[in-house]
Amino acid sequence: MGTQLKEKVIPELAIEKAIPLSVPEISGNEWKYVKECLDTGWVSSAGSFVKKLEERSSAYVGRKFAVACSSGTAGLHTALMILGIQPDEEVIVPDLTFAAPAFAVRYIGAWPMFLDVDEKYFQLDPEKLKDFLVKECTFKNGKCVNRKTKRRVRAVLPVHLLGHPVEMGPITALAKKYGLSVVEDVAESLGAEYLGKRAGSFGDVAVLSFNGNKVITGGGGGMLLTDSKALAQKAEYLTTQAKDDPIEYIHNTVGYNYRLNNLQAAVGLAQFEQLEMYIDKKNAIAQNYSLALKPVRGLRLPEQAAWARSIWWLYTILVEPKTYGMNSRALMKILETRKVQARPFWHPLHSLKAFAGCGSYRIENSLRSYQQGLSLPSSVGLSAEDQERVVEILTENAKN
Ligand SMILES: *Cc1c(COP(=O)(O)O)cnc(C)c1O
Repeated sequence: MGTQLKEKVIPELAIEKAIPLSVPEISGNEWKYVKECLDTGWVSSAGSFVKKLEERSSAYVGRKFAVACSSGTAGLHTALMILGIQPDEEVIVPDLTFAAPAFAVRYIGAWPMFLDVDEKYFQLDPEKLKDFLVKECTFKNGKCVNRKTKRRVRAVLPVHLLGHPVEMGPITALAKKYGLSVVEDVAESLGAEYLGKRAGSFGDVAVLSFNGNKVITGGGGGMLLTDSKALAQKAEYLTTQAKDDPIEYIHNTVGYNYRLNNLQAAVGLAQFEQLEMYIDKKNAIAQNYSLALKPVRGLRLPEQAAWARSIWWLYTILVEPKTYGMNSRALMKILETRKVQARPFWHPLHSLKAFAGCGSYRIENSLRSYQQGLSLPSSVGLSAEDQERVVEILTENAKN
């Protein structure tokens, strides 16, 4: 009896440390650069690291201009403003994403129009986008109008989700044909590539995020990228309080305090120097998961399209309840008891109260992904032992 009891108590359990989903790795020049800010007194947005981070970002992604912003969300808001999106116009947004891009559309009183993601890679589905534009919209005098909502469709906002790029070719072609602007949300996928070209190099405007859970961080921050000097100037103007005369305080329009500060930029730049190494590590983590979880029935493992380079921001599986023996939420609870932080996909946006009144079209894969999806710990610093524990739990809880 006594020994039986002992066998049931897993001795490591008591000392198991928590394995977070995704936390920053601080191992480069962060201290040095921040110290430089503090030693010189340059802490505000006028400091030199802001410029350096802008230059690094535009060079890396392959764009002519970069404007640093206080967050990715602020960058998305600014992107829509400089493209002249008006209240009551529509912007196509994927139904499966963190809500920030859809929030940004609402900030200007425009409406997200939610479209489905594809089944395999969870990215905005070009086929359904085409169907929507052809079957649901009228295109006349250069204007694309959603027949159901009567709103003008002005832009498409593909989100490169979870580290994997969107299939940009057909999307930019459709946007051109139907007169739509393209804003790329690259918050989760800095370094991802579509057909050898970096995510963020396709749209009229692209936006990066340096939030704490992204592949690299500034503690917070964002970056707006474009090849248009006029758009970049507009963005700089709006994000710095729209000063038409900075001495006399003349403002011809409403401005925003959306500028990144030098401390954040210093951390961001130090992180940027590590980016390729971080991507290599994320890639190795993903390969390990895929190899170790392959024999487990009922788990659908993420894939990389033939045309893609994923940076594997969050390794996300689908749990098929019948085959696996339990659903994604039950499995998440079990992981939680072993101090492993896993997380489901974002709630389908079209059905959230925050987006009441927005349109949606043929949402299918987004719903299923939401029910079955589970992101596993994917921090750059995830140790082999920690990853083994995650794999072990997923393996031992499978039905067979
Ligand atoms: C994190 C994230 C954002 C927002 O970036 P912040 O810098 O946190 O404002 C936008 N879009 C997506 C898809 C994100 O994951």
